[in-house]
Amino acid sequence: MSVRPFLRCVDEVIGKEPLSRHKKALFVFHDQLNLDAFPAWVREEKPLLMFVESRAKGMELPHHAVKAVYILSAMRHAALEWHAQGFPVRYHSTTGHFDDGVRELLEESSDTEIVWMEPSEWDSRERFRRLREELESPEGDGVSSEGTNPSSRHVHVIPNGFFFADPAEWKDQIRPGFRMEHFYRAMRKHTGYLMDGAEPMGGEWNYDKENRKKIPARLPIPPRTQFEPDAITLEVAKMVQAYFPDSFGYEHLFGGELRSFPFGVTREQALEHLDEFLEQRLDLFGPYEDALKSGEDILFHSVLSVYLNNGLLHPREVCEKALERFDGGHARLESVEGFVRQILGWREFIRIYYEAMMPHIRSANHFGFERGLPALYWTGQTDMHCLKESVRPVLEMAYSHHIQRLMILSNFSNLTETDPRELNRWFHLAYADAYEWVELPNVLGMSTFADGGVLASKPYVSGGNYINKMSDYCRSCTYDVKQKTGEGACPFNVLYWNFVDRQRETYNQSGRVNFMVSMFDKKPEEEQQAIREEAERFISELRRLAPCARADE
Ligand code: FAD
Ligand code: SF4
Repeated sequence: MSVRPFLRCVDEVIGKEPLSRHKKALFVFHDQLNLDAFPAWVREEKPLLMFVESRAKGMELPHHAVKAVYILSAMRHAALEWHAQGFPVRYHSTTGHFDDGVRELLEESSDTEIVWMEPSEWDSRERFRRLREELESPEGDGVSSEGTNPSSRHVHVIPNGFFFADPAEWKDQIRPGFRMEHFYRAMRKHTGYLMDGAEPMGGEWNYDKENRKKIPARLPIPPRTQFEPDAITLEVAKMVQAYFPDSFGYEHLFGGELRSFPFGVTREQALEHLDEFLEQRLDLFGPYEDALKSGEDILFHSVLSVYLNNGLLHPREVCEKALERFDGGHARLESVEGFVRQILGWREFIRIYYEAMMPHIRSANHFGFERGLPALYWTGQTDMHCLKESVRPVLEMAYSHHIQRLMILSNFSNLTETDPRELNRWFHLAYADAYEWVELPNVLGMSTFADGGVLASKPYVSGGNYINKMSDYCRSCTYDVKQKTGEGACPFNVLYWNFVDRQRETYNQSGRVNFMVSMFDKKPEEEQQAIREEAERFISELRRLAPCARADE
């Protein structure tokens, strides 16, 4: 048996199972690693499971090294696990895309029926739509699934089973004014989660107003388990080192010995992290959901998005286990409601938005910003403590929590008039949980208002006051958050008012925040002038001192 470079651990166990021995082959995408999300016949019939590692997909962006290792290691572990459960498995590696890999494999057998589950991402869906046409065309490899041509290749596409909602039922509703809350209430009724008959448990649909607390200085924050990388993860790491030396975060992952890895790579490890969260952090998830603290990258967040997004955990099991904690009296209502809302509400809503808005949303840029992404997003080097604290975990583990993403990293990008599509690219490659269907709506819809207000009702921007209210960051910063203008003033302050002034048209159209423009106009003329001048100087200086080399690669 030949062992391919960097695939020894897989090849030695699985070998090279020929397609021609199998009547039916199921291609499993890298983000569909859970056979429970597939129809029951898959577990009963045990078709050949086909996996493809695609070099071309990996090279579309200089994805974070942690992300690359995580995705590939999890896929290899799933293949080995299912092989051990008695599934025939074929593990293939191609320099092309996933569909090229499938074409290469299908050359081995002209009559194997091919099955796949509808992929979540637009480009893969397009590629596989074309592949299906090709396989079913009379001139191609075969014809329609009706079998009118004797040389037909039967193609079967299973609906995506990794979500609660069917976008086809909802996507026509996506328009300005249709908010996540409408969808979420309907989903609560549909699932019966946290319902008391027809009414929401506790009388409220949403307990956000009881959340939003700052972390008390002495509150102990539970540690999160790190897993030691096994031989498979180490082999993948060597491959990423060899094939993707331009990956973001490369130096951080490979700078020393790889003794621990931030994410589990098996279903068992994902379940261990889920249980740890439910037992140790869920109860305080709600109150401290919006908080920020120096040196604490996780706080009471779950860090489960990586597992939800590649299928190791299913959103239904995660929500239902959280509900069990509430039923058992181990977690308060406002925390469980808040957590379920993130998954049943936001995560599902975001996916429907993606389906409704693709592909034109990719070029959205409501404010017309054209400046490059500041270099600090690549290096973490800045004297603004809040930014340094928010980029650091991204460099180290391809993760930062929601408020760092929204209120620090996106906020600063908006205030410095950065092209939202550049920010979008960065989020896509920098985070281990980033897949276009979930990342793009969060960046171009929620955080940057690039869609002009379809997803969010107002731009997510703030001055230093908000950051100071929710964090301890400002205490360790060289800038003074209380100072509004002048030498040493917190840059968020002038940048915020400059943004309100320059984007007054958008603000004036929004009933929720148009009073901010009036507040700016009431400021003394000299202060208004100082804000405009200092913001302009800061924004130009930011790029002059630190050119955005990587963004242009
Ligand atoms: P927790 O705070 O523990 O929340 C629980 C779960 O709720 C998450 O695991 C996630 O699955 C879900 N969730 C919460 N908020 C959202 C949301 N807005 N959209 C979708 N799901 C949500 N999430 C991603 O999964 N991938 C991304 O690439 C991504 N990019 C983002 C970019 C920006 C600019 C912003 C503001 C948010 C982004 N999010 C993304 C949403 C959210 O920040 C992450 O899901 C969350 O931080 C993941 O960490 P966690 O698992 O600890 O989440
Ligand atoms: Fe950030 Fe301003 Fe606070 Fe410094 S003072 S941490 S720049 S908000």
